[in-house]
Amino acid sequence: MKILLIGIQGAGKSTQGKLLSEKLHVPYLSTGHIFRDIAKEHTPLGRYIKEIMNSGFLIPDSKTLKIVSEYLHRPEYEKGYILDGFPRTLHQAEEFENGIDHAFYLEVSDKEALWRLSYREGEEADGREDETLKAIRKRIELFHEHTKPVLEHYRHHRKLITINGEQTIEKIHNEIMEKIKQEGK
Ligand code: AMP
Repeated sequence: MKILLIGIQGAGKSTQGKLLSEKLHVPYLSTGHIFRDIAKEHTPLGRYIKEIMNSGFLIPDSKTLKIVSEYLHRPEYEKGYILDGFPRTLHQAEEFENGIDHAFYLEVSDKEALWRLSYREGEEADGREDETLKAIRKRIELFHEHTKPVLEHYRHHRKLITINGEQTIEKIHNEIMEKIKQEGK
C-alpha cells in the first residue's frame, strides 16, 4: 500500500500518517523529518538545508527527488509506505511515478492551520527551529503556489481523495480507513 498525505503545515499529516502506519503495518516516512535530520549535521549540506528550512522555502526539486528516491529504495519501503510532505511541487509529482494507491488531501483553512501551529508545543512541535511565524506564512503561501497543482495532478490520475481536516483526529482516521476499504473493493 502506497499512500501520500498532502496538506498545509498543521493539517495533521504526521498524526494521521502515524495512525495509518500502525493500522496498516506500513512504514511512515516524512520528508520534513528527513530534512530536519540532515539539517542537524555539521556539514555543508546540513547548513544549506537548515538555512532553506528556517526561511520556510522548499528544498530544490533535484535534491529532494534524489534524497526521497534513496530512501524509498531501502528494503523496508519495498512493500509500501505512508509518505508525508512529498511531492510538494508539480515537477516532483511528475518525476515520481511510483504506482501510488491513494493521495489523501487533508483540507484545512489557512486560518485554522495558523491557529493550530501557534499552539503547537512539546512533542508535537518536535523541537522545530523552523516554526517561526514568518516561515509558517511562507510555507502556506508556497503550498497554494506549488502544491495545489500537485492536487490537480492526482485528481487527473483519479488518485486524489479530499478529507475535511477540520474534524477530530479519530473521525479523520476513520474516514481515511473507510475510503481505503471502499477503493480496495
Ligand atoms: P514539513 O515538516 O513537511 O513542514 O517540512 C519542513 C520543511 O522541509 C519544508 O518547509 C521544506 O523546506 C522542506 N521540505 C519537506 N518536504 C519537502 C519537499 N517535498 N520538497 C521540498 N522541500 C521539502
